[in-house]
Amino acid sequence: MKFDVLTLFPEMFEPLNHSIIGRAIDSGKIEIRYTNIRDFSKDKHKKVDDTPYGGGAGMVMKPDVIYDAYQSIPDHDKAKVIYLSPKGKTLEQEKVKSLSQESHLILLCGHYEGVDQRVLDEIVDEDISIGDYVLTGGELPAMVLIDAVSRHIDGVLAQESTEEESFSNSLLEYPQYTRPEIFRGKPVPEVLKSGNHENIRKWRLEQSLAITKQKRPDLLKKGGYQSWIS
Ligand code: SAM
Repeated sequence: MKFDVLTLFPEMFEPLNHSIIGRAIDSGKIEIRYTNIRDFSKDKHKKVDDTPYGGGAGMVMKPDVIYDAYQSIPDHDKAKVIYLSPKGKTLEQEKVKSLSQESHLILLCGHYEGVDQRVLDEIVDEDISIGDYVLTGGELPAMVLIDAVSRHIDGVLAQESTEEESFSNSLLEYPQYTRPEIFRGKPVPEVLKSGNHENIRKWRLEQSLAITKQKRPDLLKKGGYQSWIS
């Protein structure tokens, strides 16, 4: 899977070079390339933004510079282009899974007051938000999207890791325990030490249902667990 990121701050993506995503890059399971939008400014001061028509606070990223940066990406016309934006649909696990089926994503990171609408209309297939709040730029949202999507790419995680985790089957994950067997007087639940896989499966499902009911009852409705809601 290939990610191309259009950004004014490629250095902000350094955290992706570590841990699981770092290993996925090293092993070639994912490829992330960065295009610095500023490199495409024809202005002698490398200006990438200007004041908004109609007045108002802040600066708007210029359409021509972004368009040229986009055009420099190999096979840009075959890729799906996502603009990280608070105006987009909020990213959820179903969307994450469907994006992991794409072979090439281009992620456009805005900054300042945002991006000239004309270039968005020209190149963007979809706006995606990571939540109902406003960040200073699209770089953190792009990292969130890359991390979440990469976990669903074959070979990045052990397959079972994504099968039972939170949001699979519209449920939150059951509680997890590891050694020591007793921590500050609290023992690990007996059933998990029983070796009885069927009992463990049932216990985990009940726990998932109870936790989801307590913390996210909206998910139970979505998953069709009506009898657990009342
Ligand atoms: N003026 C814009 C508005 O009110 O919708 C906000 C611009 S924001 C300060 C600058 C950039 O950060 C946006 O262009 C977008 O790329 C990114 N951004 C901010 N919040 C975001 C969010 N919740 N999800 C995705 N991207 C976001």
